[in-house]
Amino acid sequence: MDLRRPDFEVREADWLSVRAALDRVLAAARPLAVEHVPIDRALGRALGAPLSARATLPPWDNSAMDGYAVRSGDVTGANREMPIRLIVTGGVRAGGSRGQDLEAGHAIRIMTGAPVPGGADAVVPVEETDSESGTPGIVEIRSAPDPGRHVRPGGQDMIAGREVLRAGTTLTPGALAVVAALGHPTLPVVRPPRVAILSTGDELRSIEDFADVVEGRGIPEVNGPALLAATRSVGAEGVALGIARDDEADVRRAIESATEADLLVTSGGASMGEADLLKRVLETMGFRLDFWRVRIRPGSPFSFGWLPREGMDDLPVLGLPGNPASAFVTFQIFARPMILRLAGHDRVHRRVIVATAGEDLQSTPRLTHFHRVGVGGPPEAPVARLAGHQGSGLVQSLGAADGLAIVPEGLSVVRGGEAVEVMLLDDGPGISDAAHFGTGSG
Ligand code: AMP
Ligand code: MG
Repeated sequence: MDLRRPDFEVREADWLSVRAALDRVLAAARPLAVEHVPIDRALGRALGAPLSARATLPPWDNSAMDGYAVRSGDVTGANREMPIRLIVTGGVRAGGSRGQDLEAGHAIRIMTGAPVPGGADAVVPVEETDSESGTPGIVEIRSAPDPGRHVRPGGQDMIAGREVLRAGTTLTPGALAVVAALGHPTLPVVRPPRVAILSTGDELRSIEDFADVVEGRGIPEVNGPALLAATRSVGAEGVALGIARDDEADVRRAIESATEADLLVTSGGASMGEADLLKRVLETMGFRLDFWRVRIRPGSPFSFGWLPREGMDDLPVLGLPGNPASAFVTFQIFARPMILRLAGHDRVHRRVIVATAGEDLQSTPRLTHFHRVGVGGPPEAPVARLAGHQGSGLVQSLGAADGLAIVPEGLSVVRGGEAVEVMLLDDGPGISDAAHFGTGSG
């Protein structure tokens, strides 16, 4: 193998649009195998098959109030001044059996959630009766309910045998409320992907060697910890491969240790004309490049391809640029949706809102720019401001960003006051001010 002229380096850059690159990456990602887990291990995973209800819920028409089950026709016109008296013939409780049917001129005491007796079509809340305080066994009804009043219809939530949750559904706490009601001891979920993260560069120092950074003999390794965290934040398994030195054998050893992974994410070694061996080593291992370079800033040296491995499917490899902001942004735009798709999720893209630019957002017309922004202002009029210096080697604005403001191709600037789409980086617990609930007085 001639290491001086590998195909990867001489290959023309593809310069794909962001959308085209994303489509190519996602087209390569098929959901992984389905496994069965109990509900307490399912949080954040995706359903691998549709789920149906095992029971009809609610199982029967049931009462929404504590009160009296009546035939609405028996109490037409009843009110506080002219109550109508009914004979009470028993009671039903939540979880109790349906019991006897209601006969004309009678009422049955009923608790919230209890099955509405046959023949009854409405419930009168206890507050609208005398609760049998005048004559025990006789209730004074002081309102005239319409048919169906305070009755929760059986089957309103779900019908036994019908599909309730689709394959690809993300199992949020809310979705798990539904799962709990469906009645399956285990559920089919997609196996979480194993994502191997590799940093490259002689200059990088992990936390153990931070003294070198303090003394000016290295720079902090940022991408490894940041990309592992980003991987784990979507429920995938992150495998830290550490830092490979700019040395062929070391890079090869690191890549070979990733062969059990479902995806390899590298960072660094992506700029042209530097001493990195990553691309060349990949070439010697039979790497097939799908594309290299995207019309994006930061992050244009992004690449995607496949590494063959013995006895297994080819390993997809996302090559992220080394600068921390470039690595972070290209992870958000390309790697995150791919990981979520491997994990079987339907909804793999981050939410986008329209905000007003709080200041000019400079761009280059031939690239799509992603500016790290904070989002402030009221809910109906969000304002996006730069979260700090935008240099791709700088990290502080990554910590301060609520989102990435998207300046599309063709524009050289979005002016302050103009509308801009912002992809929200919604990983935090929320916001610190509950102004949307009013002032709190009273
Ligand atoms: P490269 O593509 O290897 O030339 O890297 C581009 C720039 O990103 C260089 O300044 C590297 O020092 C820096 N860089 C590469 N990897 C990392 C990393 N893991 N953490 C922080 N900076 C990095
Ligand atoms: Mg490097």
